[in-house]
Amino acid sequence: MSTLTSYDPITREAIGTVAITTPEQIPALVASSRKAQKNWGALSLTQRQQLVTQAYQHLESVQDQLAILISQEMGKDYQRATYEAGGTIQSGAYFAQEIAEALSTEKVDRSTELQYRPLGVVAVISPWNYPLAMANNLIMPALMAGNSVVLKPSEETPLVAELFVNTLNEILPENVLQLAQGDKQTGQALVSSDINMVAFTGSMATGKHIMASAAPGLKRLVMELGGNDPMIVMASANIDAAVQFAVGSSFENAGQMCTSTERIYVDARIADEFERKVVALAGRYQVGPWDQANVNIGPIVNQKQHENIVAQLKDATQKGAQLLLGRDEYALPFIQPTVITGMTPDMLLEQVETFAPVIAISHFKSINEAITRANDSPYGLGAVVFGGQGANSVAEQLEAGMVAVNQGVGGGNAPWVGAKQSGFGFHGTASGHRQFAQVRVISK
Ligand code: NAD
Repeated sequence: MSTLTSYDPITREAIGTVAITTPEQIPALVASSRKAQKNWGALSLTQRQQLVTQAYQHLESVQDQLAILISQEMGKDYQRATYEAGGTIQSGAYFAQEIAEALSTEKVDRSTELQYRPLGVVAVISPWNYPLAMANNLIMPALMAGNSVVLKPSEETPLVAELFVNTLNEILPENVLQLAQGDKQTGQALVSSDINMVAFTGSMATGKHIMASAAPGLKRLVMELGGNDPMIVMASANIDAAVQFAVGSSFENAGQMCTSTERIYVDARIADEFERKVVALAGRYQVGPWDQANVNIGPIVNQKQHENIVAQLKDATQKGAQLLLGRDEYALPFIQPTVITGMTPDMLLEQVETFAPVIAISHFKSINEAITRANDSPYGLGAVVFGGQGANSVAEQLEAGMVAVNQGVGGGNAPWVGAKQSGFGFHGTASGHRQFAQVRVISK
């Protein structure tokens, strides 16, 4: 039996191992999921809601273990890991209810109705940065719609997934939710197998591979992909509020968040004050291990990603950007809080997602220049503008799935939506939940 070892990103010590699901084992696993789906899909929405709610309540018994595993496997501080575990578990009953309402049969006229039917077997492929929440966002609507689910979690965080799925399975019927552990080989085999849908959260590059592999079977896709989110700071902005947001959003989860602020365009007239205050606040952040007090920036998840970040920073300084905070030396596994200014469009840091505690600033002379730079990207996940009068009009011109004025994106009970190459299909709200179901129009 081949095994996958999960390592602590700081000490590189093994935390535990899981059995790998080899590509050869995938067809039989998917066949058993398909068999289990028949009974699961035949249950009423209310019956599924009851079982899912009960299963999520059962997770409370392992809430702290889940939080500790999140911290151990990907380095997030314990407080945020607890928040992720608790939020996922507590939202269970609420979302089961909301999804049940969204998927209830709708009358169109006297003789016609819309039914939301199961698709069959859904492959959920998830990333490591919010290992529980990201998997859960896709598993919950897929299960509630009457599909069986095979989860392929990130190879960086297999233990969180194992505990999550095994605990749910103490309540759910056999094989309705199964795990396929492994790296991209396991993921590729799953996408090419006899499944009906891939619900994926991860990078743009992997999204393109999955889309190509899913094409021969015209498999249904929901793609929640990477971002390179811009923030525009107008001269009329409340500078202190903009500084708070810029630093908090860039450093959250060590910058390893799909909607973290990646590019800041600030009006040249206020740039000095903005940068001075950003450096002062950013300098107060502490880098270190998850179980140490006062630490608010954890490690970078692995060496490959660390090398990618360092290459982007070196590329920027070689092309003329200046470091305002942060050292030009990068010992594994951390990236010190970094503020860099003088960004230009030819720099990698500007062009691709960085996923690090890095604040990258450009100055603009006209608001049109800022809007053009913000939109000049294949990404289109989130975009933020801070400003007074005119900020709403700037927001209307930003090409992103989620746009916000003087606050972060994703507020309220809204779906999580990417535009351009940051994805398509989405989860959350009734229209998101319905993407995990097949609509059947029936007139009788
Ligand atoms: P990744 O794309 O490297 O991996 C994601 C998952 O895909 C992993 O489980 C991996 O094993 C699997 N995989 C890799 N290659 C595959 C293939 N060819 N076929 C099938 N599966 C394959 O992403 P990551 O590094 O785990 O996560 C970080 C990325 O996720 C960032 O780009 C981030 O922005 C994005 N993300 C997006 C959202 C969102 O809601 N839009 C949320 C969280 C993370």
